[in-house]
Amino acid sequence: MKFDPDAFAAGAEQSFAQMYPVLAALGQHRPRMLADYERVLADARRFRREHLEPSALRVELEVRRNPEYVAEDIICAASTAGFFGTMIPKTFGGAGLSFGAMIVGLEELGAGCLGLSNLLGVHGLAIATVSATGDIEGMEKVCRLLTEGERRGRPNLLSTAITEPTAGTDVEDVDLLRKARLVCEATPVRGGYKLNGRKVFISNGSIAHTHVVIMPTDKKNPVETTFAFLVESTAPGFRVGRVERKLGQKACPAAELVFEDCFVPETARLNSKALPGRAIELVLGATRGGVGAWGAAAARGAYERALLHARTHKVSGRWLIDEQWVQIKLANMWKNVALARALYVEAMLSNELFGLSQLVSGGAMGALQQRLPRAVLESQALRKLVVSRRTREALQGQIAAMEEWEVDTASAWGSASKVAGTDLGMENCHLALEICGTAGLRHDRGIEKIYRDAKLLQIYEGTNQLNRLEVFHRGVLRATARRSGGAA
Ligand SMILES: Cc1cc2nc3c(=O)[nH]c(=O)nc-3n(C[C@H](O)[C@H](O)[C@H](O)COP(=O)(O)OP(=O)(O)OC[C@H]3O[C@@H](n4cnc5c(N)ncnc54)[C@H](O)[C@@H]3O)c2cc1C
Repeated sequence: MKFDPDAFAAGAEQSFAQMYPVLAALGQHRPRMLADYERVLADARRFRREHLEPSALRVELEVRRNPEYVAEDIICAASTAGFFGTMIPKTFGGAGLSFGAMIVGLEELGAGCLGLSNLLGVHGLAIATVSATGDIEGMEKVCRLLTEGERRGRPNLLSTAITEPTAGTDVEDVDLLRKARLVCEATPVRGGYKLNGRKVFISNGSIAHTHVVIMPTDKKNPVETTFAFLVESTAPGFRVGRVERKLGQKACPAAELVFEDCFVPETARLNSKALPGRAIELVLGATRGGVGAWGAAAARGAYERALLHARTHKVSGRWLIDEQWVQIKLANMWKNVALARALYVEAMLSNELFGLSQLVSGGAMGALQQRLPRAVLESQALRKLVVSRRTREALQGQIAAMEEWEVDTASAWGSASKVAGTDLGMENCHLALEICGTAGLRHDRGIEKIYRDAKLLQIYEGTNQLNRLEVFHRGVLRATARRSGGAA
C-alpha cells in the first residue's frame, strides 16, 4: 500500500497556528513571525508531497546498494525551492527568515523523510556555529556558498566537524572537554595552520564543499585554544575517509574527515576568542530545538502511517480504527506529536528571545532585514557597512554581554525539547508497530524506516543522556540557585 498523506486529516492541511494554537495568540503581537512560519510550512508541505514522499524509500534502497549514493535530484529540487537560503539574511542573498521558521519547515520535511531532511537541513548547524563566533566575514562566506550556489541550481554544501574518534560526548560540553582525549590539533605555522587528526560521523562530510572544523591549537588545553576553521574540501592534506554504513537516515551521508598536515591560511581561522563556553552553548541551544522538531516529525510520521493503516485494515472482520485499543493508542500518538511540537516551539521561541537567533535575526540586524527593501539590502554599499570590523566587534560585544540566565534558558529548553521530542518519536514508532503488526515491519510501509531513522536522533547533537545532564545544569540547578540565592 502506497503511503498517501492526502488520504487522512492528520494535520496535513492545517496551518501552523492550528497545529500549535498558542502561536495564534502570539501571532497577534508578532504577526510577521507567524506569517513567516506559515509560509515556510506551506512550502515545505508542497516539497514533502512532490519530492520527499515519492523518493524516500527509493533513496534508502539506493544507499543500501551504494553507501556513497547521494540524492542529487532532491538537493537540486530543494535548491530551486529556495530551502537552503531560508534563514540566511537578505544581505547575503537569502530569504531573511528566522532560525525558527527554518525549524518549522524541518518538522514537515522530517515527517516525509528524516534522512533527506537532514541532508537538506544540516547546514543550519554550520551557520549557527559560524554565527556564534560573531565573525561577520565568515558568516558572509558560508552564507554565500549556499545562496549563490542555490541561484545556480546547486548550493555548495557545508558540514560541521566536531566529533572525534575518541571524543564524542566530551566535545559537546565545556566541562567534559577539559578531560577529553582529543586526536585533532591545528598547529600554527608560517602564514596559517597545519591541521592533523580525524573527525568522524560528519553529516554531509563526504559531499560538502566547505567544512566548519572545530580544533584546538593545543590539544592539552582545548578549553582556551579551540577555534573554528573553514576548510575547503580541496585543501592540501584533506581527504574524506570512510562513509559510514549506518542504521538509519541513510540519505544523509556521515563521513570520516582526515587531516594530514592539512595547510589552511591564517584567514581560515574564524576571528573570535576561543570557542568553548558561550559559543558552544549558543550553538547547541539553537540547534537542539531543531532535533526536537525532527523528533516531532518522527512521532508524526509514525502516527500518520498507523492512522492510515487503522483506517484501511480489518482484523476479524472489523476495521482497526473501530477497536477501542487502537483508538487509545492513536490518541496517545496524537498527544505525543502535540507534546513534542509544543516543546520544540518553546525551544524555538526561547532561542529567538534569549539565544543565538536574537543576535542573527533580532536586534539591529533583524530590523534592517525587515525594514529595508531587498535592492538596498543586496547593494554593495550596505554589504560594506554590514561586513565590517565594526559589525564583528558589535556582534562579539553582544555575545559577551548576554546574561547567563538568557543563555541557560535557551540551552535548557533546547536540550529538553531534544530529549522529549526524540523519545516521543521513538515511542510513537513502538505504538505504530503494535497497531500494524507485521505490516509495520515491511519496508514499503515506511514505519520500520522511521523507527531506524528516529533512533539516530537520540544520539546526535549530544546523546539524550548528555542533554538530560544539560537540563539538570541549566534548568534544575539554576532554578534551585535562584530560589536559595546561591550560585549554581
Ligand atoms: C547520524 C549521525 C550524524 C552525526 N553528525 C555529526 C556531525 O555532523 N558533526 C559532528 O561533529 N558529529 C556528528 N555526529 C556525532 C554525534 O554528535 C556523536 O555521536 C555524539 O556526540 C555522541 O558521541 P559518541 O558517539 O562518541 O558517544 P560517546 O561519547 O562515546 O558516548 C557513549 C555513551 O556514553 C554516554 N556518555 C559519555 N560521556 C558521558 C558523560 N560524561 N555523562 C553521561 N553519559 C556519558 C553517552 O551518553 C553514550 O550513551 C553524528 C552522529 C550520528 C549518529
